[in-house]
Amino acid sequence: MGLDLVTIPCLSDNYAFAIHNPNTGETAVIDVPEANPILEELASRNWTLSDVLLTHHHWDHVDGLARLLEKAPARVIGASADAHRLPPLDLAIQDGDTITVCSENCEVMDVSGHTVGHVAFHFPQSGLVFTADSLMALGCGRLFEGTPELMYNSLSKLAALPPETLICSGHEYTAANGKFAVTIEPDNARLTSRLNAIAVARAEGQPTVPSTLALELETNPFLRVHTGSLKANLGMLDASATEVFAEVRARKDTF
Ligand code: ZN
Ligand code: FE
Repeated sequence: MGLDLVTIPCLSDNYAFAIHNPNTGETAVIDVPEANPILEELASRNWTLSDVLLTHHHWDHVDGLARLLEKAPARVIGASADAHRLPPLDLAIQDGDTITVCSENCEVMDVSGHTVGHVAFHFPQSGLVFTADSLMALGCGRLFEGTPELMYNSLSKLAALPPETLICSGHEYTAANGKFAVTIEPDNARLTSRLNAIAVARAEGQPTVPSTLALELETNPFLRVHTGSLKANLGMLDASATEVFAEVRARKDTF
């Protein structure tokens, strides 16, 4: 039941993902930092690529695509708003679209902020969302193109998904994000215990991605800027969630 999910480490700290429908044999890959680790993973499982989903235009999410397609031709799906700066697309999508990938519904969500035009791919039946550099484990992407308002709005849409949803984000930044998070919420016991679990996983060479939305809601400071306890920690009890988000993001940028 549901799609099989594989996390594929690429480059120094990127993740691509493969999803597979065991009933139909269809396989999709989300983001292509480099081709070889993905090709090796597909070959080892005897999976034939059907689709590639691109979240945003940054080189560390698309640069392996041409080589991947040489070895494994597939339908390439990405945001119409970014078609001018993405590799050639076979299917251009936008916020609110529902497409079929691996014979499941895939809901396209605009999650602009890190870049304008960044999309997330939500698979409600399997409880997966591919967020790349928008919502990340214990963090969120830097605001290269968008405003704090735009990113906070995007994160709020993701935060409203079912709490058991797996957050499949694009980088292994979790330990560094955790060092920052604990400066914002030193008294958050769930955060402290998560940091211990992260240290154990990394010592064993295990990825900390994906995580559940429920865990992010309890521990990720960027999802907690509306809470009285976090506002009080920053001396911002009267500020709006967006103002607190902007402050936390600014602190992280210089941490
Ligand atoms: Zn990026
Ligand atoms: Fe990235």
